[in-house]
Amino acid sequence: MKVIVVGAGIFGASTAYHLSKKGAEVIVVDQFHEGQATAAGAGIVCPWVTSSEDEDWFRLAKAGACYYPSLVAQLKEDGETNLGYRLVGALAVSEDDEKLDYIQQRGNKCRAEIPEVGEVRRLSAKEARNLFPPLKEGLKAVYVEGAARVDGRLLRDALKRGAEKHGAIFYTGEAFLERGNNKITGVRVNGELLTADTVVVAAGAWAPELLAPFGITLKVEPQRGQIVHLKLPDQDTSNWPVILPQSSHYLVSFDDSRVVVGATREIGAGFDYRVTAAGLKEVLDEALHVAPGLASSTLHEVRIGFRPAGPDILPLFGPVPSIQGLIIANGLGASGLTMGPYIGSLVARLALGERLELDITPYAPLRFALPVE
Ligand code: FAD
Repeated sequence: MKVIVVGAGIFGASTAYHLSKKGAEVIVVDQFHEGQATAAGAGIVCPWVTSSEDEDWFRLAKAGACYYPSLVAQLKEDGETNLGYRLVGALAVSEDDEKLDYIQQRGNKCRAEIPEVGEVRRLSAKEARNLFPPLKEGLKAVYVEGAARVDGRLLRDALKRGAEKHGAIFYTGEAFLERGNNKITGVRVNGELLTADTVVVAAGAWAPELLAPFGITLKVEPQRGQIVHLKLPDQDTSNWPVILPQSSHYLVSFDDSRVVVGATREIGAGFDYRVTAAGLKEVLDEALHVAPGLASSTLHEVRIGFRPAGPDILPLFGPVPSIQGLIIANGLGASGLTMGPYIGSLVARLALGERLELDITPYAPLRFALPVE
């Protein structure tokens, strides 16, 4: 079985890795667009205290978070250990005791069904600051043990190298789909025709323009995220927990004295790959409000990523019924580093014609717009 994967962000890299491990002949094509979401992602893997009530979303987010230890072990067997993945726990922080009561209840309910959630317990403001020293005085917290963080770039590259070790071949360039009648035949890249039995389009926010010539309207648009990397010289931040204030903003720390704070969620900015004054202000204001101790940190880098956002929070993946051999893998939105590696393993199985235990109807890629033939 020969499969071409278009896009080597987290979705495409995971799909290619799992496909090549199963013995498929795999070609991956990536254009290295500026603003790849995977390269900008913060890397929080913690669906346990989410405010989302969507069961179909939670099913995948939970499976995605729980899949990490297995994926880490598989990559280790392939000699890939540098992923930036670590279980560091999370602090959901607030000044409002009632809000924390609610979060604690949700966490405990989750824990009763999912052991991976780990310990869920209330922390005093002092205990919270012991774990994350820059935190604002007086902020209390709910500690969630089973929260992790991962470096999206490192994981993506490890999956790509892992896929290569299992025989996958990588091309750099823009892919254009090729079809004959109602069947996909391959892709054209740099003028060369590459044929395949199946093509997986994991092209993130750029997928709609790739699919449009086929009359397929994929309801995905770029949601711009601006995210700031701060450095705290001489501080060991490697075990600092993820900080989850009660907003869309957060703080997540990595091994190299780095605290990543973000992020904007901007719909309508298109593929405008720029740091804006308002974006930077929003991110820094939110971060310093929660963690004033970061005020003297060094502004190391600002990253910009285009999240592939569908009309709702569910991903969009599965076969395109009207075109044999075409599979769409998209719509990971704001939680792609959590669920992307796991769903990539599902898409690999779909591409090989395997039956999934999971009902994927809720995630049908064209559920918002049927292809116009
Ligand atoms: P992408 O990573 O964008 O990859 C798509 C790839 O397709 C690109 O490399 C592009 O070059 C390629 N491509 C497109 N068209 C073509 C073509 N025609 N030919 C060849 N190649 C093509 N998720 C979490 O779980 N936790 C987080 O904390 C988190 N934080 C985030 C913070 C920010 C600021 C952002 C932007 C995202 C965050 N996410 C997070 C979400 C996550 O990063 C994304 O959902 C995920 O990375 C999307 O992966 P993808 O592979 O679908 O798309």
